Amino acid sequence: MRLSQYPINTVKETPAEAEVTSHQLMLRAGLIRRLAAGIYTWLPLGLRTLRKVERIIREEMDHAGALEVLMPAVQPAELWQESGRWDQYGPELLRLKDRHDRAFVIGPTHEEVITDLARRELKSYRQLPVNFYQIQIKFRDEIRPRFGVMRGREFIMKDAYSFHADEASMAAGYDAMHAAYTRMFTRMGLNFRPVRADTGSIGGSASEEFQVLADSGEDAIAVSDGDDFAANLELAAALPPTQPRPAASAPMATVSTPKTRTIAEVSALLGVPPERCLKTLIVDGDDGGVVALVLRGDHELNAVKAQKLPGIANPLCMATPERVLAATGAEPGSIGPVGLSCRVLADHSALALADFVCGANQRESHLTGVNWVRDLPEAEAADLRNVVNGDPSPSGTGTLTVVRGIEVGHIFQLGRKYSEALKATVLDTAGKPTTLFMGCYGIGVTRVVAAAIEQNHDDKGILWPEPLAPYQVLLITMSPARSEAVRTAGDALYAQLTAAGIEVLYDDRDARPGVKFTDAELLGIPHCVVIGERGLAAGTLEYRHRRTGGNEETPADGILDFLRSRFAPPV
Ligand code: ATP
Ligand code: MG
Repeated sequence: MRLSQYPINTVKETPAEAEVTSHQLMLRAGLIRRLAAGIYTWLPLGLRTLRKVERIIREEMDHAGALEVLMPAVQPAELWQESGRWDQYGPELLRLKDRHDRAFVIGPTHEEVITDLARRELKSYRQLPVNFYQIQIKFRDEIRPRFGVMRGREFIMKDAYSFHADEASMAAGYDAMHAAYTRMFTRMGLNFRPVRADTGSIGGSASEEFQVLADSGEDAIAVSDGDDFAANLELAAALPPTQPRPAASAPMATVSTPKTRTIAEVSALLGVPPERCLKTLIVDGDDGGVVALVLRGDHELNAVKAQKLPGIANPLCMATPERVLAATGAEPGSIGPVGLSCRVLADHSALALADFVCGANQRESHLTGVNWVRDLPEAEAADLRNVVNGDPSPSGTGTLTVVRGIEVGHIFQLGRKYSEALKATVLDTAGKPTTLFMGCYGIGVTRVVAAAIEQNHDDKGILWPEPLAPYQVLLITMSPARSEAVRTAGDALYAQLTAAGIEVLYDDRDARPGVKFTDAELLGIPHCVVIGERGLAAGTLEYRHRRTGGNEETPADGILDFLRSRFAPPV
C-alpha cells in the first residue's frame, strides 16, 4: 500500500480520552476510531493486524480438528429463558424487541445457540466428540467500557464449544484446546501464561485463563519462579507459615491512639511495623450475624477466598457501621479481636504472631503486647489474604511473584450446565439417552491486538511482534518529490518486494524525512528500508530495525535476500 494514497492521518498528540498506552497508540497510529462508547471502527492498518490474529487462531483451531461455524449475533430470548440466563445475566445483556414484539438479545456469548444446534443435530455418541467454533461479533453492555478495544462493548470473540459423551472425553478436549491456545499465542509472539482461574458461579471442574503479561493489565496473577504454577490472585492459596509461633514476651497494655484510623498511622505512632499490627474487619455472616476477619496489617483481604468459607455471606459484604458498633462497641479504626463475642476467623499469618498490636474496641485506643491463647482465644485459622511477593508457591516449588496480565483467552470445562437446561442428549453405547458434557473456549480477538501493543511498545510507538505487524516492511523514499531517481528506485523496489510476496507499506509521500521517520516509529513496522539519493549513487540502501533500533547500509542489489535473512523465522 502506498501511503501517498492512504487517507488516514497519524496523530502526534496523545488523545485525552485514552488512558492506557495501547489505546493511545491505536488511535495515534490510525488503527481504530471510536464510534460510540466501547464501539470502534477498524481502519485498514488495524484490520490487517486483526486479520493476522484471526488467521493464526483459525489455523490452530482447524489443526485441532474444530469445525468452523458462524452463528447469528441476534438470538431469540426463549433460548435464554430456557437456560435461565435471561434472568441471571443482568444489564450486560442487550435486549431488544422486533416489530412483532418478540424479545431478542444481541449475543454476549453463544452457549445457548450452540447447545440448541447440538440438541437438534447430534443424535449418537458416534458423532462425538465434536468442537464447533466461530469468530464473530459479541455485544456486552459493559458498565465501564474502557481502554479502547481492550474492554469494548462490541468486540470480536473466537468462541468454541465442544460436546462429549463423558467426562474423560471433555477433559481430553480441554487439554487439546489448552495445547492449541499455547501454540496460537506462541505463534503471535506474545509473552503469556496459562493461569488457573476461579470457576465462579458457573461451577465446573477446570478453568484456565490465558494472560498476556503487561504492567497495565487489569488482572493480578501469582506466578512461581520454581515451576509453571500460575494462578489468579483471587485463587492463589497462601500457605500457613511453617515456623511455630514465638512465645509471648510482653505484657498486654492499652495505649491511647488518638486520630489514628489506618494501620499505617497506628504503626507510625507506636513504632511497631504493620506486619505486627492486626486489622480486624467485620463482615456479614450467612445467618444474620456478623463474623470478624483478622489479618496482618500488611496483608490484604481476599474476598473471593473469604466468601467461599462456610458461615460467611457470599458475595462478601462488609457489616454496616451500626452493626460493627453493636458487635464490637467501637468504630472501624479501633476494632480488634480481644473480647469479641462474635465468631473470629484469623488468617494463618495473623495467627503466627506473638506480642502484636490490635484495636482495643474502645474509641482511639489500641492494645500492645497481645498474644493468642493468653489474652484471647485462639481464633479459627483460615486462608483470608492475597498472596504477596516472596510467599512460598502452593505448588511446593519456588516462591511467588505477583504480576499483572490481560486476559486474552479463557478455557472452561462446563460439564452439563447448558446441556441439562436445554435437554441436549445423545444415545449412548447402550442406546439410552445421555446428557452431553461440554467445554467452552473463548479468545478476545480484538483484545489480543491491544494486548500485543500493551506488551510491545516504546515511548515512540508500537513494536509489532513480526507475526502481527500490519506489514512486514516499511519502504521509505527520502524527498521523492525532489528526486526522480529516488522515486523510480522506490517504485521499482516496491514492485519487486511485493512480487516476491513480501507485505510492503510504501511511504512515498512528499513529506519531510522527520515526519516519515516519526510515523515509522509510531506505526512500528518491524523492518524498514530507506532509499535516499546519496545511497542510490553508491548502490546502497539503508536498513533499520524498529525493535533494536539497528541501522545499517546494505547493497541495493541483494536487498531481497538481505531482508529475508532479517525476518524472524516462523514459530
Ligand atoms: P473479563 O473478565 O475481562 O470481563 P470475561 O471473563 O467476561 O472477561 P469471557 O466471557 O471468558 O470473558 O470471554 C472470553 C474472552 O473474551 C475473554 O477472555 C476476553 O479476552 C474477551 N472479552 C471479554 N469481554 C470483553 C470486552 N468487553 N472487550 C473485549 N474483549 C472481551
Ligand atoms: Mg466480563
